[in-house]
Amino acid sequence: MNIQDEEIEARLSAIVDSADDAIISNKFDGTITSWNNGAENIFRFSASEAINNHISIIVPQEFYEEQERIISQVRNGERIKHYETVRKTKDGNKIDISLIASPLRDSNTNVTGMSIIARDISVQKLLNEKQAVLSAIVNSSDDAIISKTLDGMIISWNPAAEKMFGFSESEAIGNNISIIIPPERLQEEQKILENIRKGLKTDHFRTVRIAKNKRKIKISLTVSPIKDQEGNIIGASKIARDISDQKLAEEKQATLAAIVSSSDDAIISKTLFGIITSWNQAANKMFGYTEAEVIGKHISIIIPPDRMDEETMIIENIRCGKKIKHFETVRIAKDGRKLNISLTVSPIRDKAGKIIGASKIARDITEKMQIEKQRLLYTEKLKQLNKYKDEFMAMASHELKTPLTIIKANLDIMDLKMQQDENLVFVQNTLKQVGKLNKLINDLLDISKIQAGKLELKLADFDMTDLLKEMIHNLQPTTEIKIHLKNTNDNLPAYGDRDRIGLVIINLLGNAIKYAPDSSEIKVGAIKSHDAIIVSIEDKGIGIPQEELANIFSRFYRVSGLTSTFAGSGIGLYIASEIISRHGGKIWAVSELTKGSTFYFSIPASTQNL
Ligand code: ADP
Repeated sequence: MNIQDEEIEARLSAIVDSADDAIISNKFDGTITSWNNGAENIFRFSASEAINNHISIIVPQEFYEEQERIISQVRNGERIKHYETVRKTKDGNKIDISLIASPLRDSNTNVTGMSIIARDISVQKLLNEKQAVLSAIVNSSDDAIISKTLDGMIISWNPAAEKMFGFSESEAIGNNISIIIPPERLQEEQKILENIRKGLKTDHFRTVRIAKNKRKIKISLTVSPIKDQEGNIIGASKIARDISDQKLAEEKQATLAAIVSSSDDAIISKTLFGIITSWNQAANKMFGYTEAEVIGKHISIIIPPDRMDEETMIIENIRCGKKIKHFETVRIAKDGRKLNISLTVSPIRDKAGKIIGASKIARDITEKMQIEKQRLLYTEKLKQLNKYKDEFMAMASHELKTPLTIIKANLDIMDLKMQQDENLVFVQNTLKQVGKLNKLINDLLDISKIQAGKLELKLADFDMTDLLKEMIHNLQPTTEIKIHLKNTNDNLPAYGDRDRIGLVIINLLGNAIKYAPDSSEIKVGAIKSHDAIIVSIEDKGIGIPQEELANIFSRFYRVSGLTSTFAGSGIGLYIASEIISRHGGKIWAVSELTKGSTFYFSIPASTQNL
């Protein structure tokens, strides 16, 4: 070896010794021939321990075969590059290495052994694994995780950010973070970046961002500085959580709290052991205890001793998940006053659905109960008064009827005897008025009978057409309006009290004449439909407002505003409807204001052919 060669060799061995990688050579039989500092550091064997030892001292048993394969490949002149495998240290610890194995040749280029350069990649591998775990976390996070440079340029954008803001990763990366910041909030971003430059973190900052589709999103933001290996701040990582739902829940919670505190009903919650856990202002007002006085106390402070059983019953129901509705009971206020209350108690469940307590809504019904008591007293009194009135009316009508009958009989005689007398007209006028009075008294008597349930019907088969003809015949002379019986069968057998049904017809015809003063015709009809005979009386009169139709069959009811124009008492239709309903029939009217009305009634058809 000349001086030059010696110099080169010295330099090479200096390089080999200062390398971090293990540089080893061995013969093909496995004998180690050289072992640098790097190999000492990685495999923990000193050079003197390793040299002349077999290479298998650093090969775990399960890799022997692989080692043989590498040796035979190199023996064939092959070079193996960056081959990742496992070796072991002197203390038996396995380490991940990346190796390069090359043939060693003598001056005649014959392969005489092999060199191995091995790099410990355990730390690198660990880092890689850690990196993989971190990116899996970032990728699977529900929070948007974004990193950006100090100028605001986006450098990473996870799937949650895509979902939250609508920009894909490729759209976002390289863009400025301002794409998701509402213009009016750009200053906020400046402030955050200023803090980041100072190394300060921004924690759970509530703000608003905009998505690609311009939808505003309420978020909670945590921004932290990103540092390089030397600790220089090079960017910021942002974690954004969508708190729209949370905010909604908070708003709902606030609304509920406002309702509870402004309610007029006492709203109280308690545990299943009866310990009071909440107490609203109305409870304070109703029972006289402040919230501070009762929270943590047992609910029995407002329960009268003789009603303690109730509480046991209530809690038992609540434990079974049952609600108690409008339970009327008595509670006591702080000053000893007894309160009548209506109680609604419902179970309170935790998120898992387990019953953990009860909420009570108590309404003070002391006043309501007093009003109810008075109402009952009043109704009772009214009933009594009504009874007196009915009795009086019955008596008065009856007492009036006798003298009136005598007056009428006398007038009839005078009417007969005074045919040539010029005063006959007075007698006839008086007779007319007596007729009206007679009708009114009969009506009043009928009402009394109806009220007393004594309206008796003499039921029999009769011909409706016949009855209608008779009634029209009686009434026609009293009016100019032509009363027509139209399209009616000659024979319509009905079953009922002929006189009373006659009264109903007279009433309806009388009204048709009275309430249609300017018309020229009244149409009367009757048909048989299934098992009923239906009679109709149609006028072209003033009509009845729709909203009043339901009331006209009530006692003494008259359509408003009519009293001054048409005389009447509001009794006729009431009696008619009572008579019809006693027959098991129906009475109703169809009407249009100013156009006219049609009244209908139905009674059973006779089963016989008359
Ligand atoms: P009244 O003695 O007042 O006529 P009714 O009981 O016979 O008493 O009728 C009750 C009310 O129904 C009447 O006051 C009137 O307002 C209304 N009414 C009854 N029949 C007719 C009709 N044919 N046309 C218009 N309104 C009618």
